[in-house]
Amino acid sequence: MKLTVIGYYGAYPEKNSATSGYLIEEGDTKILLDCGSGVLSRLQNYIDLKDLDGVVFSHYHPDHCADFGCLQYAIMLETLHKKRIKTFEAWGPGRETFLSYQNYCNGKSYLEKESFSIGSLNFQTIENPHEVPSFSIKVKGESGAQIVYSGDTNYYKELALFTGKADLFLCESSLFDEQQGVTWGHLTSTEAGKIAADAGAKKLCLTHFPHYPLEKIEILKNEAQQVFKEDILLAKEGLEIEV
Ligand SMILES: [Zn+2]
Ligand SMILES: [Zn+2]
Repeated sequence: MKLTVIGYYGAYPEKNSATSGYLIEEGDTKILLDCGSGVLSRLQNYIDLKDLDGVVFSHYHPDHCADFGCLQYAIMLETLHKKRIKTFEAWGPGRETFLSYQNYCNGKSYLEKESFSIGSLNFQTIENPHEVPSFSIKVKGESGAQIVYSGDTNYYKELALFTGKADLFLCESSLFDEQQGVTWGHLTSTEAGKIAADAGAKKLCLTHFPHYPLEKIEILKNEAQQVFKEDILLAKEGLEIEV
């Protein structure tokens, strides 16, 4: 299973970049986790849209779903032009009418579901404390490899249990350690590190960055490394992680 970072900013995309969007591929199965602002255009540097099987949303804040409407138009036009053979599914926390588009996009809610699958990938979710209904998502590949994506969340200890010994924990780090308690609903670097350490995750990738120069973003990694002693990566466009 391979994850490719497409967008990694919180709130809005900086010049020539995107907010949350992560491509996961295993064999012929290709799905997108979140589809934020700037993701649709940048995604095409890594995949032909006709090969995408679906999208799974952590929640419906614009920095996680802003490009979804245009993605649905792309799927419609590819289908009408007979470029697309695959069907397309969109999964999220409720709002099936938002997720669906005529016969082109099959919208499904994962609320009340223990798990669901797209192609060879299996998904489980856990509800996060956040301003709106928001979920962490566990993706299991056919080989047993696991990726857990935090979406947006305040700190809560059950997330470590859910994450377990994931091969990769892709975790938001919207705040520096000194901002602990300033904003509810997001994680500091140190909290991301603590969840990864408590979980026993094998690797941590920090993402959903605040808007500071990249030299300052390095501080997030240094702070998380104080508590998580394994490998830590900072998300950047095109970063590929094989698990
Ligand atoms: Zn966000
Ligand atoms: Zn959010």
